[in-house]
Amino acid sequence: MDRPTQETVLIRYGEIGLKGKNRALFENRLMANLRATARDGSLAAIRKTRGRILADIAPCADREEVLARLVRTFGVVSISPARVVSLEDDTIAQVATEVTREALQKLPPSAPSTFKVEARRANKDYPRTSPQINAWLGTEILESIPEARVDVHEPAVRIGVEIRSDSAYVLGRTIPGPGGLPVGSAGRGLLLMSGGIDSPVAAWQIMKRGLEIEAIHFHTPPFTGPRARRKVEELVEALAPWGVGITLHLCHFTETAVALREKCPRRLHLTIMRRLMFRQASALARELDIPVLVTGESLGQVASQTLENLVATDEAASVPVLRPLIGFDKQEIMDRARKIGTYDISIQPHEDCCSVFVPSDPKTTPALEDVLRAEALLPERFLGDTAPPVQTIAFGPDGLRRE
Ligand code: ATP
Ligand code: MG
Repeated sequence: MDRPTQETVLIRYGEIGLKGKNRALFENRLMANLRATARDGSLAAIRKTRGRILADIAPCADREEVLARLVRTFGVVSISPARVVSLEDDTIAQVATEVTREALQKLPPSAPSTFKVEARRANKDYPRTSPQINAWLGTEILESIPEARVDVHEPAVRIGVEIRSDSAYVLGRTIPGPGGLPVGSAGRGLLLMSGGIDSPVAAWQIMKRGLEIEAIHFHTPPFTGPRARRKVEELVEALAPWGVGITLHLCHFTETAVALREKCPRRLHLTIMRRLMFRQASALARELDIPVLVTGESLGQVASQTLENLVATDEAASVPVLRPLIGFDKQEIMDRARKIGTYDISIQPHEDCCSVFVPSDPKTTPALEDVLRAEALLPERFLGDTAPPVQTIAFGPDGLRRE
């Protein structure tokens, strides 16, 4: 009885409270992002069905690779590879048995060979009820796989069976996704990206809430070398698959940093440098029609992140600043950086302009009026609010440069 069955992927999503127009926006964005993360031609078809998405992987694509990509798309709660079969008893039973066998084989040796069938009957004309389907298929599977046992409470393997009007879906494993909202569904933000541990994590956290990001990095050649710049590019490459592609703007900051060092009181260099970055980043954001900045700051973490310094830097921004890590501990940030694959890049020892140009004893509680007075010592052209010239590099969802 070798009936051909078709393979698809069932994608579950959903934030409680998503309704009406928002729901349609969410779903359309998620489908576009899934298509982009799966990459060129990997999906033969993608469609919405009853609050879920079905994606057919193209026969020529590497199935496991595409599954791994789909499951790291923000907005996805979980995915299950599914076999689509005709509504004939023999076929359903045969495929459910095969899927159970495969899932049991993938278990670690210590896990018990227990399973449970979980049927859903969307097609009410189908002659069996859901509990009857569970009992029927459970018996069929036990007959074919003698070592298997049913455990309805904590099975090692759950086999989903969905009965629809013209076919049945048999689902094996369920792979958890990151949840959150599809990138782009919440708008756009400009990330201030250093080569450190925090800003890539800030990017990840805020992309998870649906913000699409572009990044700006201030570099100070020759004081910071090509390796430092390359490190920032590598961080963006690592983040790009999560962000369905990310555009990086490199801003030449040497002249500004040198002027700061020559004209302003030493202990305020850090605060003023951050104000200059915020001012230029705000100007670029406005030019790009991006409504917010995003930083990797966390309250009290270092001298530049005392409440007084945050207040003093905020004052120079002309668009609102989001700080997704404001309440995170360093350890939490490092753990997250390891999980998302940016930690090993961030700890490479290349200097950032902050470490080259700022003193080791910056003022931690500067008064805003002192900062404003000191900053006014700089020539006017460093304080303007026109967007700085930048070199722009776009990275695709595959992490590669787009020419
Ligand atoms: P990170 O690990 O992200 O570098 P940090 O703990 O080193 O953070 P700071 O150096 O004070 O902290 O930087 C705080 C934030 O300022 C960074 O998270 C980033 O958003 C921004 N920032 C710092 N340096 C740069 C830079 N050279 N270009 C762009 N943004 C920067
Ligand atoms: Mg830093």
